[in-house]
Amino acid sequence: MLYSKLFGKTSKTSKQYDTKNAALLEQAGFVRQLMAGVYTYLPLGLRVLNKIAAIVRQGMNEVDGQEILMPILHPADIWKQSGGWDNVDVLFKLKSRADKDYALGQSEEEVVTPLIKDLVTSYKDLPIKPYQIHWKYRDELRAKSGIMRGREFLMKDMYGWFKDQNQFDVFYEQIKGKYLDIYKKVGLTAKVTEASGGAFSKKISYEFMVLTDAGEDNILYCEDCDYCVNQEIAKDKGSSCPKCKNKSLKPAKASEVGNIFDLGNKYQESFNLSFLDQDGKKQLGVMGCYGLGISRLMGVIVEKYNDEKGIIWPEIVAPYQFHLLHIGKDENVIAKANALYKQLLDRNIEIMYDDRDISAGEKLADSDLIGIPTRILISAKTLLQDSVEIKKRDEEKSSLIKISDFLKTI
Ligand code: ATP
Ligand code: MG
Repeated sequence: MLYSKLFGKTSKTSKQYDTKNAALLEQAGFVRQLMAGVYTYLPLGLRVLNKIAAIVRQGMNEVDGQEILMPILHPADIWKQSGGWDNVDVLFKLKSRADKDYALGQSEEEVVTPLIKDLVTSYKDLPIKPYQIHWKYRDELRAKSGIMRGREFLMKDMYGWFKDQNQFDVFYEQIKGKYLDIYKKVGLTAKVTEASGGAFSKKISYEFMVLTDAGEDNILYCEDCDYCVNQEIAKDKGSSCPKCKNKSLKPAKASEVGNIFDLGNKYQESFNLSFLDQDGKKQLGVMGCYGLGISRLMGVIVEKYNDEKGIIWPEIVAPYQFHLLHIGKDENVIAKANALYKQLLDRNIEIMYDDRDISAGEKLADSDLIGIPTRILISAKTLLQDSVEIKKRDEEKSSLIKISDFLKTI
């Protein structure tokens, strides 16, 4: 990508931001706010979002999820049938010209359960785990913290049906592990917290929490083991860890990046769904839902990976791996930089090239703000030694490396 041609560059704003992800993602040209909680993802931002989505997709396929794409626009009657029309406070409701009621998907149990009813009849077909990666709409009272709490946001939502509690529980453990892997891959440590089932059920649900002051959840956790609990349901505040008994629990702010629920048979009952067991008897089975906030995850990554100069993307989600720039107006320098850019493109290297004719200071500041992991700098000085200067965004030191060697090692 030539930076001179990129749609959505860095900008200085006088806007007040409540969090780092809100400020940095907008100033660095990744997103643009349309209104509170609703964002456009510009080319750089979309690359990051897609990379996170791809990691999540791979993880879901590894646990035998099957990707589908469900509608966002829902008829009101499915929400009336589940009771959500009157009980789900964040549900966006709309009316058509013909005075019909509709809802926007805030979650998709109401769509997927009738779908299973249509397509799956026998226990033999269980477990079955369709999932999608799609936008969700929620009438949040306070949209805040940049892309961390949106009224429109990207979620991975998987739904699972199991023939019995045992089959459900086996998968519950499997997906819990897979979620932790996914967070780790993108550079985050998530704590599994026990929480109540909320509006859905009286059963235990698990939330995946990443410690950050930009988060809205209050948790208590143990520094010696992995015990963690949402303060909403903690009975043991201040006392020692119920699991390892070593230390007293520590309070912290966290952001919920995922949530898995045991839904029991609530939706089977609402939609009159059952499966035939080996004796031809109708059974309700057990249903679960497994959400993961993809756009929120992107915000949390920025909250964790930044410094006073800008974002520091972990390689695996970075929009590009290399940020090439030349300094000075020397024609030979520009020609060498152009040539190197072409050579790297030919090798399918993900590279952004700042080819603008602006000051060195501005270019360096922009590259720090954007946060691509490795900077390649060419100047008259580096060319004296047929070299480029390589600097990692998260390190202070830089090193000179011969262009020929650089091309060999890459
Ligand atoms: P929260 O307590 O933060 O409102 P939730 O319990 O309502 O979350 P779920 O309905 O379980 O969330 O949704 C699954 C995941 O989607 C959450 O774990 C979170 O990562 C993400 N998510 C939920 N609401 C939002 C939002 N308004 N903006 C961005 N991501 C969200
Ligand atoms: Mg919520």
